[in-house]
Amino acid sequence: MAGSEAALGRTERQVVACVRCPRLVAWRREAARQAPARFAGEEYWARPLPGFGDPAARLYVLGLAPAAHGGNRTGRSFTGDASGDWLIRAMHRTGYANRPVSLHRGDGLRLTGAWIASAVRCAPPENRPTSAERDNCLPYMTAELDALKDVTVILTLGAFAWNAACLQAAVSPRPAFRHAAEFRRPDGRVQLGCYHPSRQNTATGRLTEPMLEAVFHRARHLTAPPPG
Ligand code: SF4
Repeated sequence: MAGSEAALGRTERQVVACVRCPRLVAWRREAARQAPARFAGEEYWARPLPGFGDPAARLYVLGLAPAAHGGNRTGRSFTGDASGDWLIRAMHRTGYANRPVSLHRGDGLRLTGAWIASAVRCAPPENRPTSAERDNCLPYMTAELDALKDVTVILTLGAFAWNAACLQAAVSPRPAFRHAAEFRRPDGRVQLGCYHPSRQNTATGRLTEPMLEAVFHRARHLTAPPPG
């Protein structure tokens, strides 16, 4: 475990210092300059976001990218925005988080058995990273998964994360994304699909809280150690 934690720490330092994507380096700072009135005066993180959670995680949750005024502001994925409200509430209800809200990095949120990361670790304009930016960032997912040796399930939020995870595992042909889809990857882990808890999906009812929690229950079932 100590070696894994050291490797995770190394990856975290590399991610936070990363400047591989010039467009995103510029945008993560520009978003901070364009803070809406409700966040005026707040100091934005405005850097890449490393993954976070339990080094003994069996479940790896992969989002798309930090929100400009969510994670890019607070310095932690799914923290301080509507998607985070949905995700962390579902993770709390299914036993993966110690509290139902994710507000800021010092809020005491702890994950048990789970790790949260994004396919692209800098906020992109209009939440749309390019495929080159995704490819630049994928080695960080690989580095985290190499260190998180107990991970047996990768839960992807939305088609972008699904496709990024397929690329990371060199899956070919790539299975189609759909909500609650699952397949076994070449690395032996199970990949699960779930609609992203974006406002676009939650406000329209495309994704409901029971649907989101059901995917976490499925992950819990799949990650349970074999009896005996
Ligand atoms: S998106 Fe990833 S690869 Fe690109 S600058 Fe941010 S951390 Fe680096």
